Amino acid sequence: SSMQDDSASSSHPQEMMTTYGVSEIIIGVLGGGQLGRMLCQAGSKMALKIVTLDPMENCPASSLSYQHVVGNFKDGDAVCEFAKRCGVLTVEIEHVDAITLEKLEQQGIDCQPKASTIRIIQDKYSQKVHFSQNNIPLPDFMEINNLASAEKAGELFGYPLMIKSKRLAYDGRGNAVAHRKEDLTSIVNSLGGFEHGLYVEKWTPFVKELSVIVARSRDGSTLCYPVVETVHKDNICHVVEAPADIPEKTKKLSIDIAQKAVGSLEGAGVFAVELFLTQDSQVLLNEVAPRPHNSGHHTIESCYTSQYEQHLRAILGLPLGDPSLKTPAAIMYNILGEADGEEGFKLANELIGRALNIPGATVHWYDKPEMRKQRKMGHITIVGPSKSVVKSRLNLLLQKDVTVEK
Ligand code: ATP
Ligand code: MG
Ligand code: MG
Repeated sequence: SSMQDDSASSSHPQEMMTTYGVSEIIIGVLGGGQLGRMLCQAGSKMALKIVTLDPMENCPASSLSYQHVVGNFKDGDAVCEFAKRCGVLTVEIEHVDAITLEKLEQQGIDCQPKASTIRIIQDKYSQKVHFSQNNIPLPDFMEINNLASAEKAGELFGYPLMIKSKRLAYDGRGNAVAHRKEDLTSIVNSLGGFEHGLYVEKWTPFVKELSVIVARSRDGSTLCYPVVETVHKDNICHVVEAPADIPEKTKKLSIDIAQKAVGSLEGAGVFAVELFLTQDSQVLLNEVAPRPHNSGHHTIESCYTSQYEQHLRAILGLPLGDPSLKTPAAIMYNILGEADGEEGFKLANELIGRALNIPGATVHWYDKPEMRKQRKMGHITIVGPSKSVVKSRLNLLLQKDVTVEK
C-alpha cells in the first residue's frame, strides 16, 4: 500500500534520493558542438546528466551541459580520462579516437553506438566498403592512391568525377569535383594529396537528396523518422523539408535501405542515413552518421519525440518515443555564416529578426564564439498546416515573396 511505501522511503531518504527521476547515469558526449548542445537541451527536460568533452572551453554545448570538460576527443588520453566519469559514452561527432573507444569497450566501458560503428563510419571509404559488402545500393566507388589509379577511375566512371577525402569530412570539406582528366592533379592537390587518403565516387545525377533517421534501442528494436528531403548548397545542407514530397513506394524503399544500413552497424542511438533519389526512382546510400544529424533538427518542433531525446532514450535503454510528425509540415533553414566576423553577425541578426515575426518559426542560435563564412551558426524551423504554408513562410523569411498563406 501507499502507507507502507511512504514509511519505506522515509526510513532511507538518502538512498531513495539517488534513485528518483528518469536516470542518474552520467552520459558522456564526445564533442560539444551544436548537436551536443541540442542533446543537452533535450536531456534537461528529464534532468539527465550530460557531460561534454570538447577542446573549446566556450563551445556551443559548454553552457548547457551538466559539466564541460576541456579536452580533445581525438586524443586517447583525454578520452580515457573523460570515460572514467561516465556511465555511458556517446558521440556528437564521428571524428573521435575510435581506437581508444574500442580499447575502452574491452575494459567494460559502455559505448553507444559501439566503437566499431564509429570506426567504420569515420573513414568514408571503409564505410562504403562495409555497406557494399552488406548489399546496400550505393554509387560506384574506388580507392585512389596515385595519378594512374585516379585516371583509371576517370576512365571507369567518367566525368564529372567526385573525389572525396576518406577522413575528417564534413559540410562538403573534403569533396571536390574533377570535370576532366586534366583537372585530376589540381583537384587531388586541393584535397591535400593522395597521402591524406582519397577515394572517388561515380557522379550521381540525383533528382532529390533524402534522409532517414533511424533510432535503435539497446534491445535492438528500431523506429524510423519520416523521410525528409535535404537541399544542399555548395555541398552544405541548406534546407530540410519534412515530410519529403515523394511517392509512397519511394518512402518505403528509403526506409528499407536505411533500416538495412543501420542493421549492419552495432549499438544504440540515432543514425542518419543520407540518400540519393535518381531519375529512375532508384535510392542509393550516400553516407551514414552515427549520431543526431542536421536533417533531424526539425524534429525538435515537429515530432512527438525529437531525435535528440530519442538518442538519449536509446543509449540509456529507456523506451523509444514516437518519431512521427505532430504537425503536417515543417521546414528547416540553416543559418550559415554569410561573411566572416561583424558583417556576418549583422546579416544573421537581420534574418533572426524576421524569423521572430513569422508564425510557427523557432530560432536556434548555437552561440559559436566566432562567425565564419559558410559555418553553421544556427537554424530556423518553421512548422505549419501544410507544405505550401511553410514554404511561403520561408520565402517571407528570405524576403523572396511578401504574401503568406494563413
Ligand atoms: P556531411 O556534412 O553530410 O557529413 P560530407 O562532407 O561528408 O557532408 P558528402 O555527404 O559526401 O559530404 O557530400 C556532400 C554533398 O555533395 C552531398 O550531400 C551531395 O549533395 C553531393 N555529393 C556527394 N557525393 C556525390 C556524388 N557521388 N554524386 C553527386 N553529388 C554528390
Ligand atoms: Mg559526412
Ligand atoms: Mg553528407
